[in-house]
This record gives sequence, structure tokens and C-alpha cells, in this order.
Amino acid sequence: MRKHFPLIQKHPELAYLDNAATTQKPQVVIDALVHYYTQLNANIHRSPHRLGAEATAAYEGARELVRDFIGAAKMEEIVFTKGATEAVNLVAQSFVRPRLQAGDNVVISIMEHHANFVPWQVLCAEKGAELRIIPVDEAGELDLSQLDNLLDERTKMLAVVHISNTLGTINPIKNIIQKAHEKEIPILIDAAQSVAHYALDVQELDCDFLVFSGHKVYAPTGIGVLYAKENILENMKPYQYGGDMILSVTLEGTTFNRLPYRFEAGTPPIAEAIGLGKALEFLRGVGQEAIQAHIHQLLVHATAELSKIEGLRIVGQAAEKSGILSFTLDHAHPHDIATLLDQSHIAIRAGHHCTQPLMERFGISGTARASFAMYNTMEEVDRLVDAVLGVVKVFS
Ligand code: PLP
Repeated sequence: MRKHFPLIQKHPELAYLDNAATTQKPQVVIDALVHYYTQLNANIHRSPHRLGAEATAAYEGARELVRDFIGAAKMEEIVFTKGATEAVNLVAQSFVRPRLQAGDNVVISIMEHHANFVPWQVLCAEKGAELRIIPVDEAGELDLSQLDNLLDERTKMLAVVHISNTLGTINPIKNIIQKAHEKEIPILIDAAQSVAHYALDVQELDCDFLVFSGHKVYAPTGIGVLYAKENILENMKPYQYGGDMILSVTLEGTTFNRLPYRFEAGTPPIAEAIGLGKALEFLRGVGQEAIQAHIHQLLVHATAELSKIEGLRIVGQAAEKSGILSFTLDHAHPHDIATLLDQSHIAIRAGHHCTQPLMERFGISGTARASFAMYNTMEEVDRLVDAVLGVVKVFS
């Protein structure tokens, strides 16, 4: 796999283990960007010339690739955003805000990334609604026994992450979606950490909303996806207004464009969307199951070896985990761990990982986090373990 990633090829000394933050980009994705800017560059949906038509076809082709990749029924259900964060905000502003009243509630979990936490917290505070939190146990698994009590007739949204970017926990979303729908509560799945490595089918899952970011699935930054069921999108008002999202504008008022363009105001990230389409094709070619199996092996090996180190605590020991491994070391601050590892050309993340409420739950300020992708190797895991042993020596 490594040969497909120019940055990895160029830096053979580097063990890039910060994939939950962002993944490296394969040559085909970089080529798609270069091709767009050197061969196709034009604005879409408006320019009546050849280039405009070709750029539009490429952009809409990318939408079709996304639709197919996540198993959506219609391209009307795929809204391009600039990332998972913007997609959650869109749902909060366009779907939940008009429906949320004082005394209502929104349910999320304690392991949400701030992107799926703060929009709900702010909205609830503004409306006098309650933000209810599904707790996690010591292993980092959601305590779903609480869910039945948390969801009631005043719940206007349940928004849950599929895979925790901090703990690596894979949540049983199918079961959670069923529970929400038993009470006719809409549900949003934050799939930012799962789309790259787990085949998702939104129709089979039956979720109402699903969000993810391109840059975590080997695609460019600045592009993301909101999937929403067509009948839901039909009844949502846009929260950003401008060009491309209208059918007609007069002095008296505006008629909005059809789906999904109504939710894509202004010139979108065209090249990035095309790059996302390429990345998904690339992922399909490699096979998500194969990637998942590979990453699982890396996780198992890293967990076994790191667990042997005295004073090292793995934060997140769920039975079902993806390739994300958070840990703390006695006497060493996570930032010191990451800085020392960087001297051995090992790139990991340190800090709260945009999950501060979760950090508080575990009584820590942050963790060091290694996260794996398709191009990582067992040898890199061994280097990680050796380097962490080196850190232990420095601080003992
Ligand atoms: N949700 C999860 C689980 C994430 O890991 C992240 C990013 O780390 C986000 C949402 C936000 O993604 P973005 O910053 O690309 O919008």
C-alpha cells in the first residue's frame, strides 16, 4: 500500500500514526486535484461553456460515487459540506433548531467529538432545552442500559458517534438506531472515524442522518458529506443562503433550488469533491474488509506490547475497537510523549482530541494517541513500542 502514498514514500523514516486526525493522500487523489486544475477548472452548475459542463459532470459524478459508497438510495440525499463539523451544524440549525422548544431535549454521548457536542450544547442552552448524555463505563463502552430512560417523547434528536476518535470504541449503532426509531426519534450518526475502514450502508442502518469528512478517508481537506433521508431534507429549511441554492429571486422573495443544491450555497469545494470521489474508488479497490483486518492486527499487536509497559494505561478497552489506541504514562505528560516520539520520527497525537468531557469522565487532561491506517506496518508498531519504552526511561 505504501507505494500509493507519495508522502510516505518520500519519508521512509516516518511512522505516521496520526491517522485519526487526518490520513495521507494516495497519488490518485493528488492526480485528481492536479487534473481538475490543469484540465477542467471552471465553476459548476452555471457556466454554459464546455469546461463548465465538464466540471459539473465531474462534481456530480463524485456525488454519485459517494451515494453508491454509503448505499444511499438517491443522489438528492447527498449534501456536500466542508466536513463532518459543518454537516452536524447544518442538521442542528436546519432540522433541530426549528423543532426544539424549552423543555425538549437532545441526547448525545459523553464520547462525542466536540463537533457533535458543542452544536447541540449551544442550541439547547439557547432554547432552554436539556442536553442529555449517555455515559461510558471504565472500558469505554456506552452504557446503553440508560438509553431507554434518556429517550422520551420530548427528545428531538439522538446524535451518536460510530467510532470514538479517542477511545477507538465501535458503538453498536444498529441497535441504537433501532431504539431511537422505536420512539420515533431522529438519529444522526457521526461516521467520521468509520467510513474509511468499515463498509456502511445507510439504507440497511436506517439512520436519518450520517456525517463524515473527506480528509479522514484518504481524500482532501475541505470536503465532507451529510447524508439525510430525502423526506427529511425536503422538510428542512436551509441555514446558509446565496448563489446556486436558489431557483429564482425577486424583490418579493426567493424560491429555493431542489435537493441537494438547496443546502450547498455558494461555490462548493469542487476539486475536493472530485478528490473525495477518487479516494472512495481507491478504497473500494483496496477493499475495506482487508484494510479493517490489517488495522485490527496492528491494534492487537500494539495493545499487547504496550500493555506490558509499567505505568502505561490504555484509555479505552472496549471489546469492539478500531485502530485507535489512546494511552497515558505515569510521570510523562502526553505532549512530552508525542514530542519525544517525534524525535524518533514517529508522529502521534497528544491532548484531549476534541473530547474534553470524555477526558473529564476519565479524570485525565489528555492522552497520547496512536491511530492506524492501511499503510502502517507491524515494524512501525514495534518502533512505537520501543520509543515509548525510551520515554519511560527518560521519566523514571
Ligand atoms: N467526529 C469525529 C469522531 C472526529 O474524529 C472528527 C475529527 O477528528 C470530527 C467529527 C470532526 O471532523 P472535521 O474536523 O473534519 O469536521
